[in-house]
Amino acid sequence: MKKLYLHELYTMDTKKYKLETQLIHAGVEPDPTTGAIMTPIYQTSTYVQQAPGVHKGYEYARTQNPTRTALQQALAAIEQGKHGLCFGSGLAATDAVLKLLNPGDEVIATNDLYGGTYRIFTKVFEKYGIRFHFTGMGDTSSIESYITEKTKMIWIETPTNPLLNIIDIAACAEIAQKNQLMLVVDNTFASPYLQNPLPLGADIVVHSATKYLGGHSDVVHGALIVNDDALHEQLKFIQNSCGAVPGPHDCWLVLRGIKTLHVRMQRHCENGEKVAHFLRQHPKVEKVYWIGFEDHPNHAIACKQMRGFGGMISFVLKGDNLDEAMKVLSGTKLFALAESLGGVESLIGHPASMTHGAIPREERIKNGLADSLIRLSVGIEDADDLIADLNAAIGE
Ligand SMILES: *Cc1c(COP(=O)(O)O)cnc(C)c1O
Repeated sequence: MKKLYLHELYTMDTKKYKLETQLIHAGVEPDPTTGAIMTPIYQTSTYVQQAPGVHKGYEYARTQNPTRTALQQALAAIEQGKHGLCFGSGLAATDAVLKLLNPGDEVIATNDLYGGTYRIFTKVFEKYGIRFHFTGMGDTSSIESYITEKTKMIWIETPTNPLLNIIDIAACAEIAQKNQLMLVVDNTFASPYLQNPLPLGADIVVHSATKYLGGHSDVVHGALIVNDDALHEQLKFIQNSCGAVPGPHDCWLVLRGIKTLHVRMQRHCENGEKVAHFLRQHPKVEKVYWIGFEDHPNHAIACKQMRGFGGMISFVLKGDNLDEAMKVLSGTKLFALAESLGGVESLIGHPASMTHGAIPREERIKNGLADSLIRLSVGIEDADDLIADLNAAIGE
């Protein structure tokens, strides 16, 4: 009987479809051996060769795995890039990017970074002779004063964590191109549904797929997406040489998460808007950080480069009162007190002691991150229930 290779009959050019369709179909083809509509979890470490060097493109599972290949293709498509590469965590992906650098090179980074990114920069890579400069980038002109002949990379996160500042990606790309620097954008907070940095001129997109891409708080995973073939080869070399690859089951969970990214993000955005407005009118709340407010300092840039405002909100109580903040943090019932974000369930956190504990207090306060700041990852539960939960915890 002639073997039917389904992928030859059924390869889909997903580029012509809209994002919502790509989220379901990009990178995923029926399994060539059985026709299984969902990509199987190829739980194998190696692949049988017909003769030495004669194989189906898969030799050893650190280097290639079909489940990972499907995910890498899906990620590339939904970030409007050419190549995707997956890693065991967001920080493993960050680590791979930093390994492109040499001793003596300098990086200019935003001063409102994920705590773990700040830690790998300053505690791991500085000792290899790489220097990091941190600056506020709400106004991108601050970047240029740090550029020297040693500068190789600009590293941004937007929206930033946890202060929800917005950085103009296209403006950064212009500075990067003019000075022949690489622009890296950590797109974890926005997700590819709300923002695509590559078409705006970024060179590398970083994701912690642990967050919105996975979306269900059940996997730790990271990814890089690029357009440039040579850059892809370099990063793939690092991925294989250093070996921080994810297992096939974790790749499968992220593939599954991506299929509902658009419907989840739509609800995160709707709930985020309702919760932000509730907090803003609450008499015990001093300040709410949410990018959808028209008086947010960079609201116009957010509207220009994003498709929605997401579910991340931070707030400070009147008087920056740490004791009161602690009561709120342990008083909610639906909002679970936990690190991380981007899952279907709502989380509440205290950046100063949790996600940003790795940043020295002095540095934190200087950057506007108050001791009593509370961060919310608004989930996709009923918005009225979420608001009632916060109202009860904040009190009259
Ligand atoms: C969580 C996070 C990371 C790190 O990702 P892990 O998957 O936890 O290693 C990096 N950047 C941002 C913005 C994050 O939120």
